[in-house]
Amino acid sequence: MSRRALDELGLGPIWIRRDQLAALARDAAPEEAQDEPAPGVVIPRPAAPAAAATAGTPSPAATKASRAPVVVIPDARTRAAPQADIKPAENERSRDIAAMDWETLEASIRACTACALCEGRTQAVPGVGDRSARLLIVGEAPGAEEDKRGEPFVGAAGKLLDNMLAAIGEKRGDGVYIANVLKCRPPGNRNPQPPEVAECAPYLARQIALIRPTVIFAIGRFAIQTLLKTDAPISALRGKVHRHDETPVVISYHPAYLLRNLPDKAKAWQDLLLLGEQLAATKSGD
Ligand code: SF4
Repeated sequence: MSRRALDELGLGPIWIRRDQLAALARDAAPEEAQDEPAPGVVIPRPAAPAAAATAGTPSPAATKASRAPVVVIPDARTRAAPQADIKPAENERSRDIAAMDWETLEASIRACTACALCEGRTQAVPGVGDRSARLLIVGEAPGAEEDKRGEPFVGAAGKLLDNMLAAIGEKRGDGVYIANVLKCRPPGNRNPQPPEVAECAPYLARQIALIRPTVIFAIGRFAIQTLLKTDAPISALRGKVHRHDETPVVISYHPAYLLRNLPDKAKAWQDLLLLGEQLAATKSGD
């Protein structure tokens, strides 16, 4: 990794007094403690064929990797999230969404009034990037800037995400698609609510089915818990390769969180290495 990329990520040499470091660590703790119950929503199985099972199978190269990523089905630490009352795959709206092509899907998102978030949005933010992407990045929801510009991950958090991608040789829009669990901005950037996630889940499911990524990078608690159907904290899930249906999922902290929590940038770098290994493994298996 280049020195510039390290600096951009805040991973360059850091001189900091121990008492300041302790204070930073204390500030960072709430993110772990904040790990709220999962939205309790199951992303419905895609109508189109899921990513090829073989695409997600770790290659020998991955097996040989020094940190030996392990494909994990949620274990004792990744408790199953409570199932939502709403089961998107079983209602008519979800079935309609599961059959949409890209144009119909994006038009549907932009016109959607399925939850109350439509009332406060400037515009819905369906997602952006390469529709045939190998790498799908899933975040939480649009913020104020994204709501204005209609694109996910813009502003400071977006810049950090772009630098994180550059550090592993990836680039927004080039083999990469970026989407959020929620397509409309929650007021005041509050946390997504389970009914909102439930209503919006079919859209993300259809995006996954259309893109058929070889790897999903889930960033932030809500994206991770929604895709993995767990309420386990990020700290208990990091460092492993999970699965959403057949697609490998690597997780990490949300860039907006990393901007506020310097100590966890080093962990994010480890997560990026794992993501890079997975991408390399799936590429070698093409
Ligand atoms: S957040 Fe999702 S379900 Fe709610 S109005 Fe926006 S697009 Fe529709």
